Amino acid sequence: MASVLMPHTLRCFLSLRVMGAPPRKLTSERSGFAPIRSQNFRFPVPSAPLTFEDPQAFREKSLWELVRALGVFRLCSFPLSCLLHGTVLGKRGFSMVLRETEPEIDKSLRKMSSLGLRPMLAVPIEEDLGESTGEQRYDDNLASMLECVRMSHSNSWSKDPMMQLKITALVSPELCVKLTSLMKEQKYDLNFFVKAMDKEVVTFPGLSESENAHFLRGLCRLNQIGQASINKVRVLVDAEYTYMNTALSVITMAMMKKFNQEDAWIWNTYQCYLKESRDLLLNAIRLSVDESFCLGIKLVRGAYMDKERKLAGKEGRDDPIHQSWAQTNESYNGSLEIMLNLISQNPDRYKIIVATHNEESVRRTITQMDELQISRDGGLVCFGQLLGMCDHVSLTLAQQGFSVYKSVPYGSVDDTLPYLARRAQENRAVLQGIRKERDLLRRELWRRLQGKFSGSK
Ligand SMILES: Cc1cc2nc3c(=O)[nH]c(=O)nc-3n(C[C@H](O)[C@H](O)[C@H](O)COP(=O)(O)OP(=O)(O)OC[C@H]3O[C@@H](n4cnc5c(N)ncnc54)[C@H](O)[C@@H]3O)c2cc1C
Repeated sequence: MASVLMPHTLRCFLSLRVMGAPPRKLTSERSGFAPIRSQNFRFPVPSAPLTFEDPQAFREKSLWELVRALGVFRLCSFPLSCLLHGTVLGKRGFSMVLRETEPEIDKSLRKMSSLGLRPMLAVPIEEDLGESTGEQRYDDNLASMLECVRMSHSNSWSKDPMMQLKITALVSPELCVKLTSLMKEQKYDLNFFVKAMDKEVVTFPGLSESENAHFLRGLCRLNQIGQASINKVRVLVDAEYTYMNTALSVITMAMMKKFNQEDAWIWNTYQCYLKESRDLLLNAIRLSVDESFCLGIKLVRGAYMDKERKLAGKEGRDDPIHQSWAQTNESYNGSLEIMLNLISQNPDRYKIIVATHNEESVRRTITQMDELQISRDGGLVCFGQLLGMCDHVSLTLAQQGFSVYKSVPYGSVDDTLPYLARRAQENRAVLQGIRKERDLLRRELWRRLQGKFSGSK
């Protein structure tokens, strides 16, 4: 029987020196990414800070699209619970962002691509504790995800494609929770996960026979995703709740060890609202050095704050979330700086997507990219926002030549509505901040109407 436990905890990695070496000038060739438009490849030039105040960010949108976007904002002013129960929007209400057939999806995504934005498909399947479904459902989920990999790289809008993956769509959340508590005691050796992905029969200590069998099947499913996406699509694994994140991260690291030898195809997510997020990031960097794999990072603030806090309170644990938004911002900025410095020193090994709607974080990233001479569209540093959120930020960035991805839920309306409802609830803070986008849309609409009456453009 192969033992997968080692006598160290995950936390004992040494801290890394990630700053200090002189920045190196980067080009798209060195990054391994093809530029979006080679003739337009942009080298970094120190730029005036972006203000995201220009309504002409929406200049490529048609009049109808402006009116429709304002209509959506109007609907968003209704209480969230009405929207979620369908009393306002109904099933087709979200049809502005969802399409069910491939030609429909293709058309929407081509439009997005013509605006300079890249779609990042997210299969809207996830499970939390108590929602576990059977093995067949996980196999069906695998089929949907493999389809998503295919869609992501085989269309005219596919440029350096990325997609999101939730491990709890392929492995039961109960098992992830159990693995997380086992991993708190001892460190798991990634090689055993890799062997299991290669269909070797591995026995994971602490699991029952049926749990072990389910885990082996889950790892084989993840292996299929890795095999289908390597050299084609970057797979960004989502971070979820702290009670299962350790397992999700270790599984993701094992995928990185297997698939990221030459380039970062599998990425992990770091939630900066967590007090432990800096340690987790440094551990991952350390592991990528020790195990020789490339590291791709999705940096987020985190989406599950209310539930995490409620649960910690109920269980009498310390709150895992930073006490204030300011502390979360500090944590985000610090991790961002670590990654940008690391990228400037090792452009072949590290990549990041700055997944935020926060204008200050975006500006800070751009300033540091300029200082470190990291190219705008080389694919080492890109930006991510959710579909339908902060388009004024995404469009301005795209117009300035940065790589910008919009996270697009891709699936049937039935699967996608509950997913959107969860995202809407989790992103209340961002939804409350969309007033600026609405005002910019109004100003652009007004400018167009004035132009129509005065005969100018
Ligand atoms: C492409 C993409 C992928 C994503 N993937 C994931 C993922 O895998 N996992 C995940 O959890 N989230 C994910 N998110 C969601 C992301 O975490 C939310 O969009 C984000 O929390 C909102 O933060 P912001 O930086 O956009 O905006 P801001 O408005 O700057 O920040 C709001 C966030 O700050 C934090 N915060 C607010 N108040 C406080 C407080 N009092 N104390 C401490 N912290 C506070 C919370 O995280 C809150 O959501 C993803 C987002 C995008 C765009």
